[in-house]
Amino acid sequence: MAEISGAQLVIDSLRREGVDTIYVLPGDPVGDIVNGWAAAGHKAIAVRHEQVACMAAQAHSYLTRSVGVCIAASGVGQTNTLTGIANAYSNCWPLLVIGGSAELRRRNMGDFQELPQIETTAPICKWTATVDSIRRIPNLINQAMKQALSGRPGPVYLDLPAEMISGIEDDANVPIPQPAPEPARPMADPQEIRKALEVLAEAERPLLIVGKGAAWSWAEEELLQFVDRTQIPFLTSPMGMGMLPPEHPMNVSAARTQALKGADTILMVGARFNWLFHFGQPPRFAPDFKLVQVDIEGSEIGANVPATVGLVGDAKMVLGQMVDELDEVPVSYGESSWLNDLKAKCAENAAAIEPMLNSDASQIGYYRIFKEIRDFLPKDAIVVADGASTMDISRQVVPVWYPRHRLDAGVAGCVGTGVPFAIASQVVHPDKPVICLQGDWAFGFNGMDIETAARFNLPIVWVIFQNANIDKWVRTHVDKVEDPNDFTPSLRFDVMMEALGGHGEFVERPEQIRPALERAFGSGKASVINVIMDPGAGRRQQEFAWLAREGRMGYS
Ligand code: ADP
Repeated sequence: MAEISGAQLVIDSLRREGVDTIYVLPGDPVGDIVNGWAAAGHKAIAVRHEQVACMAAQAHSYLTRSVGVCIAASGVGQTNTLTGIANAYSNCWPLLVIGGSAELRRRNMGDFQELPQIETTAPICKWTATVDSIRRIPNLINQAMKQALSGRPGPVYLDLPAEMISGIEDDANVPIPQPAPEPARPMADPQEIRKALEVLAEAERPLLIVGKGAAWSWAEEELLQFVDRTQIPFLTSPMGMGMLPPEHPMNVSAARTQALKGADTILMVGARFNWLFHFGQPPRFAPDFKLVQVDIEGSEIGANVPATVGLVGDAKMVLGQMVDELDEVPVSYGESSWLNDLKAKCAENAAAIEPMLNSDASQIGYYRIFKEIRDFLPKDAIVVADGASTMDISRQVVPVWYPRHRLDAGVAGCVGTGVPFAIASQVVHPDKPVICLQGDWAFGFNGMDIETAARFNLPIVWVIFQNANIDKWVRTHVDKVEDPNDFTPSLRFDVMMEALGGHGEFVERPEQIRPALERAFGSGKASVINVIMDPGAGRRQQEFAWLAREGRMGYS
């Protein structure tokens, strides 16, 4: 029998559940948790804004197939995590946010930083709970872990009133649960697997779409076997990039529009027909394509598009089942005019951007910067992209060679994720190069936390695409107006990085990009390469206006 504090119970419980890193902004009343954690020699990445802690924690989850943990102070400290929680919710990523909160006995009395934290957070969480007894802390943390990981993953929130942290309990009264197991990997109904292959075998214009649910499932091996055996053309969602080798002959990502529009049968694995895939509707898709849909969440089957066959289960298991069943129900496409036309379109699209990739224009455009980055980056680099044009154009030019090696705004379209995602990437993969491609607008959201990278010796290289405006290309070419809200041009973000303890590079001409990359990665320090670019630079004209977000931002 011994006395134990609530703070110590939180620390012990997180350790028991396998947590090795927490992302925090220390403050009242969670200080004892953070200090105790760090004093015991565990890793605590202390940041400058709770949003950064929350976003870094969820990227940590995605990269490690575990639950990343963010700890925030009470009231407004906790509400600063809301955008991060929303992002994890939209992207189906696990996350545990622990928020300190006002003392229970002072609730509704105007206590320090008292806010309705559970009420504001619950709608964007899979599960929330308030700790109302110190002895329940291990159990509630255990439940939180299971909720975050099971089935379709998502964020959970645990509210810790101040007296639950500072209070003392006799440890004999504290039940200790079994740690949460690895997330279960359910298989699909074998009869449905057979039906799915029968549907796919009939296809004349098949297409495989791979999303980040497959990446979360680590289904890459099974996907590759399936593609190699069937010779099905494939493309990926933005964060599905790298799930299959980019140089694979079946990769038709560069003919995305034509592939989506022309497919008569689609195998969708761990992705949704949301805005990113144009809701599966015409004119972006054929009106009556057949759909074989693989998702761990049963309610997702048939959402927005009727599913011919729904395979509810874990992507890795289900693809394994499909590969095994190919012996019984062979599916093999081989050469076809469908594939040839798609490959021709890929080549045509690649040729169309070639002049921009090689442009020596003194006002630098996106494509030239990305070309230099593409040619420089080693294959094992983790690529983080943030900011509309920077993110979109990087997908066309900078390949991703391995699974879970690209992180971006995702389904929530959340700008500002670049800095925290890059921090988590380097924490999880200290031996890999991490590059963060960021528009200057996007950088502004959480830019101050480049100091966190410098402080923790995380040698991330930021490339800032400084056009000093928000989407001027759209305003100039679509709306045909100038905007008084342009940013001050040529700001010295590189000097800011140097002042904060890192390495800075200032780039104004195309030939300076490569040497700047070499020096930045060679410095071994957190670095900013500040590229001053053409303020009117944009992307190549698309067949459909960007993302077809009718009625929004002037797109039609
Ligand atoms: P993307 O942004 O890559 O298009 P989405 O976030 O829209 O992907 O969709 C991911 C989908 O993956 C969700 O519907 C989610 O339920 C599903 N998913 C999550 N984990 C798994 C898994 N282990 N196996 C199969 N599907 C999964």
